[in-house]
Amino acid sequence: MKVPFYTGAVSFKRQWPLIAAKLDQILDQGLFTNGPVVKELERAMETFTGAKHAIAVGNATEALVIMLKAAGIGPGDEVIVPSFTFFASASSIVHAGAVPVFCDIDPVTYMLKPDELEDKVTARTKAIMPVHLFTQMADMKAICEIAEKHGLLVLEDSAEAISMFHEGKHAGIVGQAGVISFFPTKTLGAIGDAGLILTNRDDLAARARLLRLHGQEEDEPYVHHLVGTNSRMDDIQAAVLLARLQYLPSEIAKRSHWATLYDRLLADLPQVQTPHIRVREEAANPVYYVYLIEAEQRDELVEYLSEQGIGTETYYPIPLHLQPCFSHLGYEPGSMPHAEHACSRTVGLPMYPDLQEADVRAVCEAIRKFYESGGEG
Ligand SMILES: *Cc1c(COP(=O)(O)O)cnc(C)c1O
Repeated sequence: MKVPFYTGAVSFKRQWPLIAAKLDQILDQGLFTNGPVVKELERAMETFTGAKHAIAVGNATEALVIMLKAAGIGPGDEVIVPSFTFFASASSIVHAGAVPVFCDIDPVTYMLKPDELEDKVTARTKAIMPVHLFTQMADMKAICEIAEKHGLLVLEDSAEAISMFHEGKHAGIVGQAGVISFFPTKTLGAIGDAGLILTNRDDLAARARLLRLHGQEEDEPYVHHLVGTNSRMDDIQAAVLLARLQYLPSEIAKRSHWATLYDRLLADLPQVQTPHIRVREEAANPVYYVYLIEAEQRDELVEYLSEQGIGTETYYPIPLHLQPCFSHLGYEPGSMPHAEHACSRTVGLPMYPDLQEADVRAVCEAIRKFYESGGEG
């Protein structure tokens, strides 16, 4: 039985009538980028997240760069970021002109380890960038306390964290600002690239709006207040996202349902560790963007599953402190043991709302067979 790692086709087709109605509006208006439907999405995301400002941009990589620049990060500054994360968390810091300072992770939640964080603070540190990965948020209480103690900004890579909350606040607005990615595989996916900046700060929002539009005010073209870039969201993507936003709570519930089934079916396999949700507050709400396991003989398992037609994704095979492009920063192998450990053992299993029970059972059965055969498949 084939189970792809991701397929957006089923839900996309089911949601098509709602999407099509919005597309008609765009065709009638003839405004295709940063137009009325994009503005409608911004207001809808402000309502959904409780953020004072939602600023639509081309993708979350650009959202991170714009957020950092809007927050005043630039040459001479250091930003502390976990080593185990998607590349854009760190590359955005470089694009803003600053230096990423890598930090090890909590081995259980895979996120920034507060007690290692404080050692990384120097006179040049300007901000901390926690990343909320896979299912849950970083330890924002501890991180914000450290930030406050040292007078640092907290700028969140909340690209994966739609609908994740910390003490009632949506990811991205626990610190000064955050981002959301609408890349097709994300919990709320467009049919192409799209991203968003979230903030409660008026000054940061105003600069971010300038930076996404070549430094211009929308109603005052050709006057450049800042040297910005072009990062517009397409109205077609906004239309898709507005339609899909209505299904988001039920789709997140379906993801939880499949996660619970995976948890149950994999529970007795000693070679596999299922995700651990750290309850930091009563209302901790995991959102299963990715169902990530730790597995013995990870690479052999991935190969075996692939031969069985089961898709997986290795998040992330190389820690950022050991990436070739950061070799000049001088980090040695072994310097971040938890991040390096996670990179060698973790793998994401198929996870999307339209999975079927038979799919989840087939994936778990194949994993069981792999280990029963002594790891040779
Ligand atoms: C997906 C992702 C991004 C980048 O988002 P894009 O919209 O693809 O540019 C950044 N950070 C993290 C943690 C992500 O998962």
